Amino acid sequence: MEATEKHTPPRYSSLETPLVSGSLFSTMHWLHWLIILLSLVLTLTAWKITSNQIAEKAASSYQRETTKIIDLVLERMQRYEDALWASAAYINSIGGDISFEEWKVYAEAIGIEKKYPGINGIGIIHYLASEDLQSYLAEQRKTRSKYAVHPPHDKTEYWPISYIIPLAGNEKAVGLDMAHESNRHSAARLARDSGSAQITGPIELVQDEQHTPGFLFFAPFYGSHQIPQDTQERRERFVGLVYAPFVVRNLVDGVLSRDFRNVTFSIHDAEEEIFNENAIGESEYDPNPLFQSSASIELYGRTWTFQFRSSKEFKSDTSSGQPTTILIGGITVDVLLLVLFLLISRNSRRNALQARKLLQAQQKIEQANEELTHFNYRTSHDLVAPLKTIRGYVDLAQYELKDQNTAGISDCLSRIEKQAQRLEKLVEDLLDLCRIDNQNVAADIVDPNEIFDFVSSTLQSLWQEKDVTVSLENKLGSPFRSQPVRIRQILENLVSNGIKYSDPEKLTRWVKVTFVRVNKDWIRIEVADNGIGIPGEDREKIFEMFFRAGNNSEFGSGLGNYLVKKHVAALHGKIDYRSSDEGTCFTVDIPAGSRE
Ligand code: ADP
Repeated sequence: MEATEKHTPPRYSSLETPLVSGSLFSTMHWLHWLIILLSLVLTLTAWKITSNQIAEKAASSYQRETTKIIDLVLERMQRYEDALWASAAYINSIGGDISFEEWKVYAEAIGIEKKYPGINGIGIIHYLASEDLQSYLAEQRKTRSKYAVHPPHDKTEYWPISYIIPLAGNEKAVGLDMAHESNRHSAARLARDSGSAQITGPIELVQDEQHTPGFLFFAPFYGSHQIPQDTQERRERFVGLVYAPFVVRNLVDGVLSRDFRNVTFSIHDAEEEIFNENAIGESEYDPNPLFQSSASIELYGRTWTFQFRSSKEFKSDTSSGQPTTILIGGITVDVLLLVLFLLISRNSRRNALQARKLLQAQQKIEQANEELTHFNYRTSHDLVAPLKTIRGYVDLAQYELKDQNTAGISDCLSRIEKQAQRLEKLVEDLLDLCRIDNQNVAADIVDPNEIFDFVSSTLQSLWQEKDVTVSLENKLGSPFRSQPVRIRQILENLVSNGIKYSDPEKLTRWVKVTFVRVNKDWIRIEVADNGIGIPGEDREKIFEMFFRAGNNSEFGSGLGNYLVKKHVAALHGKIDYRSSDEGTCFTVDIPAGSRE
């Protein structure tokens, strides 16, 4: 028992503990959490692995496509080169030069358009020193009277296109002099000097009406099967070039149809853009591509830089819903697991609570049984003892009657009366005890003064006999609402004890009752005396049924404090006391007005 300054009545008794207190999740077993955690880790791992696999697959697919594009361009250029070298070899095999007619037959025979899509034709460029120009023109005009070298320039050498097959579409190219501008001229000279195939930088082909970037592809021939060893010799023996013009757009279209690839690209020759599918308006252009990269290749004396971007189609082809499905599926399973475990935990908690309730009920019953046995024994004993004493005094009184000893008879009768009073008190207490649990006490206004007057008058003969002053200090501003009957019985027991256990050795003896308000919800009733006090060793027991401390020789049932405790509990209050040689003070705290 303890009195605390902070009065916060419990909201539930131990048996009324709500089914799920605190967080719903706190009821779950750690093993459940472990399973959910593992399942979550498994889901995330599966999701991560699948995502990685798909990303890797996409990366390698992209890598494959870009490599394929470069390979195809190289392969196609290789085929062009092969055609040029084959032509040069043919020229060498027929004596080191070729006439227009011969070339026409040859070029038509190799079927350029079918076998070499992308190139606009195949032709011959002759190298002429300035002094050879007139004889060259005269020779050409034998078969083509209008043949002319153009445009005019101030160089001392000429590199005119002598023939190109097919002629249709290439008319403007016939007679065009490579020396008229540096791009064509320098690539032609490089081919001659190096003895290798070369391409020009980007140019606009005279025959391309769309004016898109194109190139000339040159392979030199020297009039012999062997390419001369050194540059000097190559220059001296140089006859001309087999050449092929091509438009980059046609080269790409012929080689790499858009339908078979999911990567778009642009090509730059040095700084100059020669092909571009990466333009924003292009249908497959992806503003946020999954991949983009660049690669440079050395190509017949030029450096081409490819800028690759994965296309929109690439994104839709490689994106897979699989990881998301795994993630959503896994998380759904985890959530279901969580719900399942929560239900299991809730049920097992409910079962545990039921079991606890049952156990508590069983303990209560056992305790009640024990108390009942004890109660039966004590009541029988306490009822029989005064009856036996009364019978003894009746026998004695009969003897005294025979002896006509009226003083003796009177003594016996007063002793019998005392025993009867004790018996009456005991029976009253027992009746109170029987009623206490079943008492349907109505709440009402409690007036401390009224209750005190009632108690004081009930106990009048006792305090008069013991010469104890009983007083009241009512510090409450106003009456409060509670159960007056219980409060009266509490006060009656505590005050009667204060009087009963007063100290005869003290000059004045008193019992003081104080009513005071602790706060707006709680009232405190103090019953203090300057009596003999309660020995420390009895502290825990004085509220037990039939307990009587060893400090008194007064008559009592040992039920008073037990009754007080029961009343206080019924009012949802608390009781405590402090005691010393100086006296005892009981403190009863009860809710005021908040409970019926
Ligand atoms: P009783 O009928 O014996 O008075 P109670 O239950 O009222 O039974 O009290 C139990 C015991 O507590 C008493 O026997 C007494 O020894 C001790 N006691 C109770 N109140 C006081 C008090 N004010 N002063 C000293 N002892 C007390």
